[in-house]
Amino acid sequence: MPILVMKFGGTSVATLDRIRRAAKRVGVEVAKGYDVIVIVSAMSGETNKLVGFVEETSPLFDAREYDAVVSSGENVTAGLMALTLQEMDVPARSWQGWQVPLKTTSAHSAARIVEIPNENILQKFGEGMKVAVVAGFQGISAEGRITTLGRGGSDTTAVAFAAAFGAERCDIYTDVDGVYTTDPRICEKARKLDKIAFEEMLELASLGAKVLQTRSVELAMRYKVRLRVLSSFEEPSDEAGTLVCDEEEIMELNVVSGVAYSRDEAKMTLVSVADRPGIASAIFSPLSEAGIQVDMIVQNISEDGRTDMTFSCPTNQVARAEQALNEAKDAGGINFHELIADTGVAKVSVVGIGMRSHTGVAAKMFEVLAREGVNIKVITTSEIKISVLIDRKYMELAVQALHDAFELEKAA
Ligand code: ASP
Ligand code: MG
Repeated sequence: MPILVMKFGGTSVATLDRIRRAAKRVGVEVAKGYDVIVIVSAMSGETNKLVGFVEETSPLFDAREYDAVVSSGENVTAGLMALTLQEMDVPARSWQGWQVPLKTTSAHSAARIVEIPNENILQKFGEGMKVAVVAGFQGISAEGRITTLGRGGSDTTAVAFAAAFGAERCDIYTDVDGVYTTDPRICEKARKLDKIAFEEMLELASLGAKVLQTRSVELAMRYKVRLRVLSSFEEPSDEAGTLVCDEEEIMELNVVSGVAYSRDEAKMTLVSVADRPGIASAIFSPLSEAGIQVDMIVQNISEDGRTDMTFSCPTNQVARAEQALNEAKDAGGINFHELIADTGVAKVSVVGIGMRSHTGVAAKMFEVLAREGVNIKVITTSEIKISVLIDRKYMELAVQALHDAFELEKAA
């Protein structure tokens, strides 16, 4: 029997009614002849509530007990989903992570999957069971303790199961009906994409983050797991949702597929640092040790042996970055005249695999921004993406203007 993985996020299992609705979808796939592995999240809001309990009980909590508590939301929905399917006469049972066993590293609250042995579940399919319901987000460490995969981790559980079982596809049911060319909340012309390549999906993470955990897309790309993102609130159809797949499966690659943005960016500049071998390392090593997620980096040309170094990071990490840099300065590792933090910026990016073979995208992007009077502060590029840092107050304008200029409202 071909195997299908179906993952239901928190909003899709938020009430008993919604669990029934989800179970019906599973029943439809079983009727088509699939053996189905269902991965469930906790009911929406449940994990936040459990995290709150832990933090209130013990501010400097033992991460092993944190995992024991926050993983429990998924146990409830896994059992309820199995019961609901049984009520519909679909042979089903639930598995908690440790029962599979889904083996992980011991990095509690951010564990990585090591192995998913499939014998146990395949044997049950062989005996006539039709649906294996697995609690997402959780596993077991070599020490025998319960672990969790990080917030949003059920997506990663789902993709890992699809890879381990050679599933035909991994359907991710969520509360949006697919992946869009940009955020429909800030651009009304945003269009749902039928297909998008793994690499584009990764680059569009600022849009997709709420849809798919980035790690799950990386995993899907590595194992070529075809992912379909779709809403559990819409009528089922074969065209529903967006297929995230290998670029080979996409006939005409878009030059630009989407416009992404990230609101909470900060720009930091070290004014007048000595331009000498090792200076970048002296600046960015302490930042990395402090866990700062540095994104864009620009070094100016130098004058009289001194230069300015600019980088961007999330707004909420500015204070920590300042501390790390000032400590490095006090320790004599670096020397700068001034440290300027600009927390009023946003990043806007255009993304598309077709950029590899088409020139002129950057020129067009800059022309559009110039026409709108938007000043660009920092630019970075990759093979399939061009990003600019601009004043946050122009972010929506820039997204809309770029969406228009690249005619993203039209299907390719
Ligand atoms: N319930 C977990 C969370 O809210 C995992 C998930 O839903 O993916 O982060
Ligand atoms: Mg999610």
